[in-house]
Amino acid sequence: MPRARNTGRPQSGPEERPSRAGAARLSLYLRCLEGWLREGVATVSSGQIAESLGISDAQVRKDVSYVGSLGQPGVGYQVTDLIEAIRQALGINREWRSVLIGVGNLARALLRYQGFRAQGFRIVALFDSDPAKIGQEVEGLKVDALEHLGDKIMTLGAELAILTVPAESAQPVAERLHEAGIRGILNFAPTVLRLPESVRLVNVDLSIQLEQLAFQVQLHNMP
Ligand code: NAD
Repeated sequence: MPRARNTGRPQSGPEERPSRAGAARLSLYLRCLEGWLREGVATVSSGQIAESLGISDAQVRKDVSYVGSLGQPGVGYQVTDLIEAIRQALGINREWRSVLIGVGNLARALLRYQGFRAQGFRIVALFDSDPAKIGQEVEGLKVDALEHLGDKIMTLGAELAILTVPAESAQPVAERLHEAGIRGILNFAPTVLRLPESVRLVNVDLSIQLEQLAFQVQLHNMP
């Protein structure tokens, strides 16, 4: 049976769901709110959020209305309530277990970062195809062979995968992840993955961001 393509484009759904751009803004609001919470700020207005992110007040109010009827006129939003509501709306008020495939340079840097765990993303298993790496311990986890992928994903209850293999290996590995029951892949390999709709895909490519940055700087410098 031919597989539907999933290239990471937004899907249409019920109107009460935020768009992909709206969900990305909610993540940005969360970052700001967590910063304010650390500074001891108890309430904020939509205007303060809007100003700190350079977007309109109306946009913030519209996005926040998706997460619930929060905020009081003249008082604003309780920071803790808004954080909780956004985490719930984004589905990150729980732990997400992830596996990582391709324990190379990028993976080692990601594994050293403690912030993912603090946000509820726990990497529970590592896999690599290189026999020299299998059995090694990296940041407290033993690197496993790909043949154990299915068993481990099932026993550890992993739902997400981080893919840091070379571009040419990414598609076959992604297909194995799908077959093993993974529901979402964060793909760092610079290639377009084709997967069934049931697997959600987010691509991370810093080169694209650098290209965009260069373009913006060039535009800004134009007479
Ligand atoms: P690396 O060569 O250091 O690591 C790749 C690892 O994948 C190696 O350990 C290798 O043994 C393993 N591997 C290869 N084929 C495999 C397979 N079929 N199954 C399991 N493991 C396999 O490379 P790196 O510098 O860590 O980069 C990893 C990937 O991330 C590359 O695709 C690279 O282009 C990409 N990358 C993306 C960004 C970004 O901004 N998105 C930045 C840096 C690197």
